[in-house]
Amino acid sequence: ASHLGADPKITRRLTRVKHIILVLSGKGGVGKSSVSAQLALSLSSQPPPEGSTSNSTNGKAKVGILDIDLTGPSIPRMLGLDGENVRQSSDGWVPVFTDAQQNLAVMSVGFLLRSKNDSVVWRGPKKNAMIKQFLGDVRWGDLDYLIIDTPPGTSDEHISALEYLNGFHPSAVMVTTPQAVSLADNLRSLDFTRKTGLPVLGLIENMSGYMCPHCQECTNVWGKGGGEALAQREGIRFLGRIPIDPGLVRLLDDAREEAVRKEAGEVTKASDDSSNPR
Ligand code: ADP
Repeated sequence: ASHLGADPKITRRLTRVKHIILVLSGKGGVGKSSVSAQLALSLSSQPPPEGSTSNSTNGKAKVGILDIDLTGPSIPRMLGLDGENVRQSSDGWVPVFTDAQQNLAVMSVGFLLRSKNDSVVWRGPKKNAMIKQFLGDVRWGDLDYLIIDTPPGTSDEHISALEYLNGFHPSAVMVTTPQAVSLADNLRSLDFTRKTGLPVLGLIENMSGYMCPHCQECTNVWGKGGGEALAQREGIRFLGRIPIDPGLVRLLDDAREEAVRKEAGEVTKASDDSSNPR
């Protein structure tokens, strides 16, 4: 009965999804998409949660990642899926999978653009319609987790996603950097979660210190601990910090190239920085 009034197509898809997690950040460039991608990758490499009905065949959780950052979709690139296409089937759009076992399903407006340099210039109603299609027309199947990467701040996309997700108990993870501006922006995002009744699972401090690729020592470029203090003050869980890691930039920004090289057996380790002349 809690789904009363929801779109029937969305209800049909989302009743098969166990946990829906939105990834939020107060502002852009703090690593929200990177965290979304890493969250999806790490969940899909772990066993399904208790009570899972995803019928996973390889003992790993079934995960979907939906990129609703419509004007700046970066999930395809970060997962090495630039240039891939979604397929239309009789039962809706087939998402792009990162792996042969189909543990991680990916959907992004990036797959629908002709060129990766095309941009989406849409008004609210068209964005609404796209998000509705992403939730109701994509063949997500039985998922343990659906991770939703949202645009920075709080915008049309957040409001319409939450409307469509009403009754499906979504929750949120917040991403911030240690800098003050980012923290103030996060207060606005937190206010949004309170006004909309969206439970916050916790906060992640990203770009927290610089991890030297050579000596592994961590330098606190923009300070440290701001995220943890914010979490404490606002009564939300602090989930941990991720340092600035040049290896991560390379992996995320050149994921496609990396995947190809890996296949060719040229890449040994992410932290193996080839720019190091020593
Ligand atoms: P957002 O989604 O918040 O706009 P992104 O995830 O696109 O941010 O990250 C912005 C840039 O910062 C990307 O180039 C990404 O590779 C890089 N980045 C994110 N997190 C880290 C990190 N912990 N270490 C190094 N680079 C990072």
